Amino acid sequence: MSDHFHELQPKPKNNIIPFPILASEPKTKRANDKPLPPTPIYDELIGEAAKLNKLSKYRCDFDYTVYRDLELRYKQSPIRGGIVKSNPIKLVNSHATCQQCLYAFEIDTYGRGCTHNCTYCYAKAELTVHGYWNNPIPVPVDLNEIRKIFYTVFETKKASKWREIMERKIPLRVGCMSDSFMWMDTKYKVTQEFLKLLNFYQYPYTIITHSDLIGRDDYIALLRKDLCSVQFSIPSTNDGLNKLLEPGAPSAKRRLVAAKKLSQAGFWTAVRINPMFPIYPDGYFTNPNFKWDGAVPKLEYSSFEMVDEVADSSCKSIIAGFGRFSAFAMNNMTRATGMDLRQFFNKAEVYKSRRDYHFSETEIRYYYEELKRRCNKRDLDFTVCYIGNGEDQFWKHQDLWSNKTDCCNIKGKVRSFETDSREISFEQRLKFSTKKTATPIDPDRLHVPLDTRENIKPLNSLSQLSKGDSSIHSEPPL
Ligand code: SF4
Repeated sequence: MSDHFHELQPKPKNNIIPFPILASEPKTKRANDKPLPPTPIYDELIGEAAKLNKLSKYRCDFDYTVYRDLELRYKQSPIRGGIVKSNPIKLVNSHATCQQCLYAFEIDTYGRGCTHNCTYCYAKAELTVHGYWNNPIPVPVDLNEIRKIFYTVFETKKASKWREIMERKIPLRVGCMSDSFMWMDTKYKVTQEFLKLLNFYQYPYTIITHSDLIGRDDYIALLRKDLCSVQFSIPSTNDGLNKLLEPGAPSAKRRLVAAKKLSQAGFWTAVRINPMFPIYPDGYFTNPNFKWDGAVPKLEYSSFEMVDEVADSSCKSIIAGFGRFSAFAMNNMTRATGMDLRQFFNKAEVYKSRRDYHFSETEIRYYYEELKRRCNKRDLDFTVCYIGNGEDQFWKHQDLWSNKTDCCNIKGKVRSFETDSREISFEQRLKFSTKKTATPIDPDRLHVPLDTRENIKPLNSLSQLSKGDSSIHSEPPL
């Protein structure tokens, strides 16, 4: 052992010789006296962490023993896919469905499930088919993988497939196929450590969450106003139905309290009414020939009145995105609520959208216009998320966006948001997907500036349809 090592050791006090501390040893809980069964996965992780601690300037205080506990707990009945999730970072905008998205550079700090277990969740639909969803619990990501990516890009000159994107500080979207702010993070603390890492590398990010955990003081303390924006997903404030449709998520009331707290603390905070659910069957507001046998059904879930509740929470912005539901999601929702939600959708539209349950463009536009009208009255920004609704919607509804440079409405509000993933070339995007899954597009179309009038094709006389014809229903005026 070198002299240098001895210098690092604390001086003995009262003749008690302290246990030697290695400068680069990752933080772990004190081991039990009882010998533990072998934990090869944890051993590998802790070994990697020790190497990173020596190399990187980032001082990590993460307690890696959470991985050991997980490995021990599931030794007899292994978790499908293993106890850690790999590949936490993704770039998803080579696909036709999200190639114009400004925040398609994504990260999840948990994977293969989500305790919120929303019945309409697309990740749940996708992963359940392959037997990975909550089987039996969501797992934390391998934190070392994230640390290595940031270390390589920002502390070395070594090759990294992420370098070009990250050096340009394309903001990360936190929470995509899971929710990084599930309450299980108070135990695992992977998201907590990740927030510290983002602060250290001064990396911009937007959080999308169904949870109120982000409003807890210890989490707020980890956020930086110049780096982050927070978007609360709240499709409805009807907490009776929320319990059935989002069984594991905190109530909307709690999410709004968290939103208020963050907003009042000066963080740029928005509410996503996404997925927005129909209130009446398709065509009720805009189709002059709308007919229904008997009483027209009303779904008391998403509502226009939500705008007032959001405004009362001091949040400054609403992002709406009409739902598009797979047959899997529709079955889940029907089972959970005992209501047949299919009756709200018309068959021609379902057929057109390749069997996804989807509203007509005209009716969707009515909902957006009505929300915007109410937002204007309450001095709220309004914007529309096109994901799930087809690329045309990205161009068609730009006239409704309060912020013409950003459909998530973050640019100009959060200082570090200067770039976005639309700037990444298609060739670059292909590095992160296969040619098979990527949709070739005209590269020029990607970089067409936002809000250029010639790209916005207004829908046919929507305003007349929704306002002028007395045979068409309208919500009571404010
Ligand atoms: S919170 Fe998000 S990821 Fe989790 S189940 Fe709901 S929709 Fe899916």
